[in-house]
Formats: sequence, structure tokens, C-alpha cells
Amino acid sequence: MQRKQPYQESASQNIMAVILQSLPQEAGLTKIEYEGPRIALYSRNPSYLMQNNQLVSNMVNTIKKRIVVRTDESIRRPQQESAKIIEETIPKEVGVSGTFFDAVTGEAVLFAKRPWMLAQVGEDFDNIELAEKTGWKVRVRKAPRDMSPIESLYETLGETVSERTRFYREVGDKIFRDKLSNSAEASLITLGGFAEVGRSCILLTTRESRILLDCGINPSARDSLAALPRFDVAGVAMEEIDAVVLSHAHLDHTGFLPALFKYGYGGPVYCTEPTLLLMTMLQRDYIRRAGSKNALYSDRDIESAIMHTITLTHGIVTDISPDVKLVLSNSGHILGSTSIHLHIGNGDHNLVYTGDMKFGKTLALDNALWNFPRVETMIIESTYGGKEDIMCPREQAEANLLNVISRGIAAGRCVLIPVPAAGISQELLLVLDRHMKEGRLQGAKVLVEKTISEATAIYEAYPEFLSKELRRCVLESEASQFGYDKFATVDSAALDNEPALILAPSSMLAGGPSVNYLKQIAGDPMSRLVMVSYQAADTPGRAIQDGARQVTIKGETIRLQCQVDRIDGFGSHSDYNQLMNYVGRLRPKLRRVLVNHGERPKAQNLASMINKQYRIQTQHPLVQEAIKLL
Ligand SMILES: [Zn+2]
Repeated sequence: MQRKQPYQESASQNIMAVILQSLPQEAGLTKIEYEGPRIALYSRNPSYLMQNNQLVSNMVNTIKKRIVVRTDESIRRPQQESAKIIEETIPKEVGVSGTFFDAVTGEAVLFAKRPWMLAQVGEDFDNIELAEKTGWKVRVRKAPRDMSPIESLYETLGETVSERTRFYREVGDKIFRDKLSNSAEASLITLGGFAEVGRSCILLTTRESRILLDCGINPSARDSLAALPRFDVAGVAMEEIDAVVLSHAHLDHTGFLPALFKYGYGGPVYCTEPTLLLMTMLQRDYIRRAGSKNALYSDRDIESAIMHTITLTHGIVTDISPDVKLVLSNSGHILGSTSIHLHIGNGDHNLVYTGDMKFGKTLALDNALWNFPRVETMIIESTYGGKEDIMCPREQAEANLLNVISRGIAAGRCVLIPVPAAGISQELLLVLDRHMKEGRLQGAKVLVEKTISEATAIYEAYPEFLSKELRRCVLESEASQFGYDKFATVDSAALDNEPALILAPSSMLAGGPSVNYLKQIAGDPMSRLVMVSYQAADTPGRAIQDGARQVTIKGETIRLQCQVDRIDGFGSHSDYNQLMNYVGRLRPKLRRVLVNHGERPKAQNLASMINKQYRIQTQHPLVQEAIKLL
């Protein structure tokens, strides 16, 4: 048995001893290595450990660290040969769309059109046979309609094998080093997204580590000082940050991440796999729209961010520094969105940052998780934290939407709905698909802008992050659940004279294809613009929602003669009642609630109502404040 890494004595030595004592000869152990926050056991006989997975569970319970079983490089057959073996082993009817290999982990992911032919839905495909034949651990997943986001991810991963191998070991060394001190301390600095919506960014400092929670931009800010997180006041250099944790993919939470790498950050980024894919797509789209000269970073910086990202699933406790453990849990906002639970020190403090959160079920996603075992401090969003922010019930919202669309289509005109690429868009696609199937929405040609279709393909690729009902439908059926048998994908198209319903980003009409379509319909009094999503301050969408009939977008003045409708009830954020119910549901006794991600009056209102109703100390800090937790 070789020991590649010079393990530090004490804690690490103890871990090694437990592992060695627990494993019999048949396990074929060849080496033990850090793989980021996990401990990887390499084996020449991986099927033994797969069949006896209780052995691994027991070890995890004893050492309280995450363990993964990897196949030893010496038994892995070349990728092409393995792909051929897989093709020959798996029946044709399964419809394999592609197999992707990651030489760092020795895992292969096989995407199939009919995965239910290989395993019961919801269960991992029994991969022992393929592991024995190929030497790779093969996971089977449902193939999305469009494989390009997955192909692009694996292309980047394939180009960075040696860097990632080294990087994972270095990250492990830092996480599992011995603590420098036994006393606990923790504080926050608000770098963005407090008393405002946009550039969400919080720095958590403990005795042992500096951790960044989200790293966004504010695309609608008037000047650059308000557009970016205030790293200048934090007094921390990029290379001094130990880890970044992301709640979800929207650019107001991830848009600055590649710039961190451009300016010297080289540590890990933790998020879910759908967040990685969606944010990469949105960041690339941002560069395309800003133009490479004006963009804050280049495609190379995005690739650097991908290379440094360690994806996690919901509900697994993961060490991310010597004194911080992380658990991500569903926040119901968009695919892969999470609330971030940080356990600081030895049970000294628990911080939950909700991220953008929907405490209400939608067709696409389950309700945000609320049953945290312990929370002392909570940071909660307040997008709709005002008393007046009470959304109409979902059934009513759907009826209103159908009514507005039907009127526009019946008049032979266009209906434009500006939406974000990911979030409300997919919810609307599900709603439209259902009503069309049930015959309530007829004669409508539905045009879906390209970036929305790309994001939807990512939704289809990760059914385990969808609501329980939708997950089952996606996994068990070949038909698109998002209406792609009826809807057409377009790329900033020129509209003809036919009536059409158009879904296009950006949602706030600040730029992008929705503005192109708005220009085409604005002069027609019979066409309709329908506002369904959140409109941030100082955006053209907000001005129109507040009644403006003329807006200037990127220097061009647009006069609106079309009808403007506002429909609420589809929001991917909790409304005021849902925010209050969420806090009321939490069982642990909170010591303090910090309110963020809302315009100042909304944050203020939510803070004062939580304080009044639940008798919890609350704050609604501004950007650039320091808050001591412990
Ligand atoms: Zn969001």
C-alpha cells in the first residue's frame, strides 16, 4: 500500500488507522488520498466494496468524514475501449446518448433515453458488472433532449485532469489540517446584496478560515461601485479566501465568480451540479452580451471557475475548512438552488443563509427545506418582504395568464413575456404545456428564446432536483415535460404576422432578446407585454411596471402603445406571507435574523415583523457592515 500524500500526524493518522483496520484483504486497497473534501479509497477490486457498502458506511460513521470508493487507475481500461464495452453490454433499446469519463475520479456517466430499462426509477443502476468489465464506476442518468451543456462541461473537465488531480489533493490538505486554535470566533462582512437586490456577497471569517457566500453582480446598477461586491472594504486579498459557496446560478449570486479567479483566487467553489451548469451558461451569455471588451472576465476565467468547482448534493455534511462544515438543502427557487447551512467550530454556532427561497410548492420544484436541526443565526432574503407583497393564489394566477394570452392570440397579435433564462421560464413552460394538453389554450404558437431552451435542457438532465411529481414524469417518459413537442426555439427572431406567444430574457428588459421583441410589438396597441417576474429598481421593466409608457434602453427610446399586463403568483421567491410562515416553521430557537436581498423598505419591514411576531432579535444591515456572530 502506498501513501502518496504526507498526511499530517494526529487527526489524519487516526483516520488512516480506522480505514486500514476496517478493510479486509479482499477490498484490494491500493491507496488513500484526499479528493477535495472527501477521502478517496482506491481499490483494485471495487466490486467488493460496492457489494459490502455497509463497511464504508461504518467507516464514515466512525471518522465522520466523507468517503468515496474509486477504482485504481491500473484496472481502468482506456476510455474508448470502455465506451465500446458499455455499448456492447447495454441493450440497444436503452438508447445511449453518450458516455462521459472523468479520469480524475474514475467515474463514467452514461446518459440514456430509457434508463428505466436498466434500473428501477430513482435507484442507481447496478453498475458492478460494468465496473468489473471496464474498471470505471458507471452511473446511468436520463438523457436530456439537448446534450450540449453536458458535453461542454465534460470537455472542460477532460482538459484539466492533471490540474484537478493536484487541486483536489491540495484542497484536502487544507481542509484536514489540524486546527490552529481551539477557541471559536466568527463574524460576517456584508459585501453586497444588503438593503438592495443584486451583487449578493457575504464574507464569513472564523479563527481558521475565510469563506465567501455567493459572489454576484448587479447588472442594473448605475455605477460600477454599486455593481460589484465591495471587496475593497473587506481587507481581504483574493488568495486569502479559503472557499466560495454558491446558493444558486443567477448572475446576481454568481456573476462575479470568474473575476475572483482572474484576480488571483485559486481555491474551491462549492455548489450543486445544476448550479455549475446553469451559471456557466449564464456567465457565457453575459460575456456575449457585454462584448468581450466590456466584460469583467473572459471565457478562460469561466473555465478556471469550472475546474475549481466541487459539486455537492443536498443534505450531505461536508467539511470545507478545519472549523466549518457545510450542508446544502433545496431552497425551491430554481433548479439546484440551495440554502446554505454552516456549522462553525465544535457545535459553537450554526448559520443558515437561505439564498433566494420559495416556501411554497411549484410545478417544477419542491418547497424550500425548513427543518434544520440547529440554527442560531439566519440570513433571510426579502425580495417580497413588504407588507403589500402578497401574491395572488396560483390558480388565480394561471387563470389570469390564460385570459391575457388568449385575448392577445384571439386578436391575431403577439404576447411577449420577459422572463429570466432559468426559473419562472421553466415554470411557465410546464403551465403552458399542461393547459395546451388539456385544450384550454389553443391556436397559440409558442416561441421560446434559445437561452431558455438551453436552461430547460439542464432541468431535464437533473430530475433528482425537480419536484417529486415532475421527477417521476421526466424519468419515466420519453416525451418532453416542458412542452418541446409543441414549442419552437428561436434566436432573437424577426416576428411575422402570425399571432405568437414569446418567452425571452432578460426579465427586466435591461437588454437581450426580450428588448428585440419589445421593439417589434411596442407600437401595436393590440399586442401585449406581460410582466410576471420581479423587476429590480432602476430597470426599464420596473419603470414599465410602474406605469411608464416610454423607456430608454441602451440609448434607444421605446414608446409603448401595446397593452401592458402584470400578473403575479408565478414568482420563484417567497411572498411576504411565505417568508413569515417559513420563519414561524423553524423549530430551533433562533438567536438572530439578518435580513438581506431586498430593497431597504422591504428588508426593514420583514425585520420588524419577524421581531414583533416571533420575538427574535433582527437586523437589516447595509452593505459594508461587520457583524460579530460569535
Ligand atoms: Zn435568484
